This record gives sequence, C-alpha cells and structure tokens, in this order.
Amino acid sequence: MVRPKKHLGQHFLKDGNIARKITTCLDEKYTTVCEIGPGTGILTQLLLERNNLQQLTLIEIDTESVNYLHHHFADERLLILEADFLQCEPEKLFPGNFALIGNFPYNISSQIFFKVLENRNRISEVVAMIQKEVAERLTASPGSKTYGILSVLLQAWFHIDYCFTVNETVFFPPPKVKSAVIRLQRNSTNSLACDETLFFKVVKTAFGQRRKTLRNALKPFLKNRSANHSLLGKRAEQLSVSDFTELTRYISKIQ
Ligand code: SAH
Repeated sequence: MVRPKKHLGQHFLKDGNIARKITTCLDEKYTTVCEIGPGTGILTQLLLERNNLQQLTLIEIDTESVNYLHHHFADERLLILEADFLQCEPEKLFPGNFALIGNFPYNISSQIFFKVLENRNRISEVVAMIQKEVAERLTASPGSKTYGILSVLLQAWFHIDYCFTVNETVFFPPPKVKSAVIRLQRNSTNSLACDETLFFKVVKTAFGQRRKTLRNALKPFLKNRSANHSLLGKRAEQLSVSDFTELTRYISKIQ
C-alpha cells in the first residue's frame, strides 16, 4: 500500500474495469509510451500486457510510489523515473515520437497540457484522466462558455475526443470532483499558417479579457493603428482555430 498524499493529487484508481477502459483508449500501435503519475501501477500493469510495446517510461514524483513500483514490476521494457513530469526533458528521454497516458494529478493538469504543446511534434497521442470540467473545456467548441485558451491551443494541433465520464467512487480516496477521460491525437498540421509564437500570445491575451471585444482585449497588439479586421468586433470565445490564425496573420502585418 502507498499512503495517498493530498498535495500530490494522489487518488488511486481501484476499479480494474475502468483501468482497462482507459488503456484501451490508447491505440495498440505505439511502441514507446510514457505514463505520468503511475502511483501503484494499475494502468502500468495493463500497458505491459501489450505485445507492441518496446519502452514504457514511468514518471512519478512520489518516492513511496516509486519504491512500490520497483518492488512489484520487473520488465525489461520498463523504465521507472522518480521525477517531476513538468521538469523532465522529453527530447532526452525519448529518441522519437511517443504516446502519453496517465491519470493526471488534477492540480497540475493544465501545466501538463502546456508541456504537451511544447512537445507537440514528438507526442503522437495522449490519453488522460482529468477533472471532468477540464475535459469539457478542452473539448469545447467556439461559442461555448467553457471554450478557452487550452481549447484553442490544443485543438490547433490535436484532434480531441471526450471518451467517457468517471465517477468519484472508483478512487481511493474519492476526489471531490467527477473525472473524465479524453484522447488527443496529433492532427496533420505541421505548422500553422501564421507566426506560431505570436499565435500563442494572441490567444492568451484574447482570453485574458474574454468579455471584451477583441478590438479592446488585443489593444497591446493593435497599437494606435486604425485596425479594421471584422474579427476584431467579436469576442475570443467566438473564434475558431482558423479565425485565430487569420487574426494572428493580420496582427503580424500591421506590426
Ligand atoms: N495512476 C495512478 C495514480 C493517479 S494519482 C492511479 O490511477 O491509481 C496521480 C499520480 O501522479 C500520483 O501517483 C502522484 O504521486 C503523481 N504525481 C503528482 N505530481 C506529479 C508530477 N509533477 N510528476 C509526476 N508525477 C506526479
């Protein structure tokens, strides 16, 4: 047993059927898989059943869990790292592309997704259990109240599916919120048709003041120019990924 620690977001899944339902969401074809926060290894065990698997790297911050994992799993394809996922350098850990899976620590799930974005050209697929509200935000479409920064940024490079909802009762200890499993699959976009660094800034700034029209929210980019793009009359939550791309192109032009 590992004593659950609240500050590490430890809620251990205790239902084997749900665990299998989660690992089944990840395509069997991946040979290199990284699991974030394996805890006591309920997902790990199922991933190791895969015939295609050549390397499974576990990244777990909790020493007690790491000791438990060393004790219970022996497999030459397995690498157990005691580390903070947010600090690790995927380009050093994985020679090529890889898939990511995990019941994420909910307190850092947004930061994990920003890290996924930084590494978007080496991550082929992500299967994640996260807080249900976050799952709804990431899968939201333009026009929805929950559509936000990460919805736009992730949807620019990933196709995202809401797989299923998970009840708090299947965890020990039960979290206060409902959970959901989502899957992100890298789309065919190699690069956006705009300056990508500026795209990130525009999206973040636009949603920083989501109630304002973009003409007001994006003032820092528009300077004193009499900017007159029709999208500036809208609010951030109304714009699709391609609208944001177009707006970024426009802003580049008037800089
Ligand atoms: N996968 C397990 C545990 C999920 S709880 C299960 O389903 O039962 C989340 C796990 O993430 C915990 O084991 C916690 O120790 C680990 N964790 C928390 N912060 C982390 C971080 N920054 N990097 C890596 N692992 C982390």
